[in-house]
Amino acid sequence: MNSAKVRHSVPSEKLEGPALLTDFSRFYILTLLYEGGKHGYEIMTSIESRLGRKASPGLVYPFLKLLQGHGYVTFRSSSVGNKQRKVYSLTPSGKAFCDRLFSQFTNMVSGAIEPTLQVCAHCGCRVFRDAYTQEIDGRRLAFCCRYCAKSYATEMRAAG
Ligand SMILES: [Zn+2]
Repeated sequence: MNSAKVRHSVPSEKLEGPALLTDFSRFYILTLLYEGGKHGYEIMTSIESRLGRKASPGLVYPFLKLLQGHGYVTFRSSSVGNKQRKVYSLTPSGKAFCDRLFSQFTNMVSGAIEPTLQVCAHCGCRVFRDAYTQEIDGRRLAFCCRYCAKSYATEMRAAG
């Protein structure tokens, strides 16, 4: 068996490669615009600081142009320092587009996130990780903190 042939069958696009990150960066650009108007440079520095990767103008500007073409984004000129910059913002239909996209995304990821969610048996607040667990009356219960566990046990004793 020729191992070179096997290698050829591997898809050329790596899952952790630039293509996936490009789509993710585009999604992130939409969340930035959703927060409010931004100029291109602001978008690039936000990507860099929050996603920890260099954002190239070749990623940001063509995407902004594409969004403009769909009527999702509009811009106005604004002076920043001594420079004129284009401040991009979402149009009402761009906002509606994001609302749809974000709810799809939420549906997609909630299944992955929810199993790690626990609810404090005492106060009902959501605990993402490291819930404080304690066995009370033979049942292991999750709490947000030991004070809630103590209050719960006290109330159980008072009730029983
Ligand atoms: Zn609690």
